[in-house]
Amino acid sequence: MMWDLLIKNGTVVNSWGRMKADVAVSDGKIAAVGDLRDMEAKKVIDARGKYVLPGMIDSHAHIQTGVGERKSGDTYYTGSIAAAYGGTTSFVDFAFLNEGETPKTAMERKMKEAAGESVLDYSFHPCITSMDPQSLDEIHGFLQSGFPSIKLFTVYRGTLMLEKAGVYEVMKMIAREGGLALVHAESADMIERNIADAIREGRTDARAHALSRPPVTELEAMYGVYAMARETGAPVILAHMTTGKVMELFEHAEKGLLFGEVCPHYLVLDDSVYDRPDGYNYICSPPIRGSRDREALWDMVEKGYVQLINSDHTDYSKAQKERYKDYFPDVPNGLPTIETRGMVFFSEGVVKRGISLERFVDLTSANAAKLMGLYPRKGVIRPGSDGDLIIIDPDVHYQMEAAAMHMATDFCPYEGMEMTGAVDCTIAGGAVIIENRKFTGTDHRGKLMKRNKPLIP
Ligand SMILES: [Zn+2]
Repeated sequence: MMWDLLIKNGTVVNSWGRMKADVAVSDGKIAAVGDLRDMEAKKVIDARGKYVLPGMIDSHAHIQTGVGERKSGDTYYTGSIAAAYGGTTSFVDFAFLNEGETPKTAMERKMKEAAGESVLDYSFHPCITSMDPQSLDEIHGFLQSGFPSIKLFTVYRGTLMLEKAGVYEVMKMIAREGGLALVHAESADMIERNIADAIREGRTDARAHALSRPPVTELEAMYGVYAMARETGAPVILAHMTTGKVMELFEHAEKGLLFGEVCPHYLVLDDSVYDRPDGYNYICSPPIRGSRDREALWDMVEKGYVQLINSDHTDYSKAQKERYKDYFPDVPNGLPTIETRGMVFFSEGVVKRGISLERFVDLTSANAAKLMGLYPRKGVIRPGSDGDLIIIDPDVHYQMEAAAMHMATDFCPYEGMEMTGAVDCTIAGGAVIIENRKFTGTDHRGKLMKRNKPLIP
């Protein structure tokens, strides 16, 4: 038997445990796991002293998003390469509605943009911003045809927001059809009022952005969404949670209804970034919080209330942000993080805080595979699963710098941070696309992932 690829001598980690083993890949799939030292392969990689993990899944990334001045810098080609450098082998993006689009035409546009460009497997969360019959009907169609995670916003009136009656309607549908609501929960009413006050008082710097969206504006929306989840039975992922005050909600939540997502920037940075001269570069919503909230978020990760560590990547340059530096309401929101998400969490979570490698696999891959309806095709190293693997060298030390990154931006929110651990190799769909920390996948392309109904972990 001649395999396509053999990864020898590594420590293979799944969410339930680790073992010294070799991994064989053939025809894009994992072919065997175990003692394969006498087997032959067209290509052999020695992973001695290194960890072999399921490829990471980023189920919250925005690529080639926005319009006009707010168009993010990446394309599906450059964005997916940057993701691969960071150990991600598949991602789920969002089909935000541009003006005049319906959920379906937005999905069609995004699928067309990514096709033949992304070097990783990709999928999309359909979005809905209006509860008119056509939109509801299209969302119904997506729940039935391989895109069962629906993104809902309770904020950004006039663009992304769906009124609460609509959120309730969609959640009833999700409960009936089997699916998952992914909710950006912030209180539109409270935030609009706070922003209007800030503008009137002439306070429009980066710090005022954080002040306009205090934790209560998140909590009010999250509690409301959970009330609807309980009433309808629709499972909900609370996207990018920033405040530890939400722990109470998780402590009392019904099993199988509430899932939590946190992004590394909320775990690693604190709100002092908004006092920096370039504080506008860190504008994202919800905002980065104080150190007490940050510590409480780590506590939620350690207690198991967080299921997903995702990037919420949005790739803006310093110039795009600087243009509105004195007027926070117009600064494009988001941080470029698709490349750094996994290894920042590795360095800060696994190395510094002792989170186990098995939990790391859960939080960066296996749980996303389950919730996104991709398990056991992805999120696990076992025969028959997709050949999506990464090799991590845990002993490398380096400093973060934007200049060394592959995202289409000159900004790195972690500039100067000391890191331990790096992704040596990324194997996507059986192809080695990062080898020795260099991109080698020019000819490789990923596929659109149609997904099953969520597997509730
Ligand atoms: Zn997002």
